[in-house]
Amino acid sequence: MKYPQVIVDLIEDFKKLPSIGTKTAERLVMFLYSQSSVEDLNLMADNLVKLKQSVHKCPVCGNLTEGELCDICQDDSRDKQVIMVVETIKDLFVIERLGEFRGVYHVLGGAISFSNGIGVDDLAISDLLKRIKDNNIKEVILATNANVDGETTARYIKALIDDSCLVTRIAHGLPVGSDMQYADEMTLLKALEGRRDY
Ligand SMILES: [Zn+2]
Repeated sequence: MKYPQVIVDLIEDFKKLPSIGTKTAERLVMFLYSQSSVEDLNLMADNLVKLKQSVHKCPVCGNLTEGELCDICQDDSRDKQVIMVVETIKDLFVIERLGEFRGVYHVLGGAISFSNGIGVDDLAISDLLKRIKDNNIKEVILATNANVDGETTARYIKALIDDSCLVTRIAHGLPVGSDMQYADEMTLLKALEGRRDY
């Protein structure tokens, strides 16, 4: 006995997602079949198609957007002279959820990693330098992760920026070797407040 082909195919689709094995995939597909209306599924299918059709990276900061620029870059109340440099869009959202930071971001797209073969050219570092040069930036906050790769990246960027603007690093309170995504809100808030010259 085999599932109908559509179900078999969908199970395979779900299994391509991170942390989803056969059993979970099976459960998700059966849930969609038994619990969702046709309208729900149509909407979901539409959104899946739109995910790649209408979402793109903000040309200024690398955040995700459906518009020309992202909401943060478009927001006039934010201080465009203060840039927080993060590794990933996920990190940007972690900081943004705190609701404390009123500057703008720059998403690198990862960190320099000798072990994973990620070099300077794989990251949005030259874009960052150009942005600093062209926009009279007051402060660059290096909010890369507190692990070897994050630290290497922060040092590299600091060396390139030189003395053209204030460079700070959020490190205080963040446990060494930790990813920002896993830090709790209080720790992150302290890390943000306790940033210091780098
Ligand atoms: Zn943006």
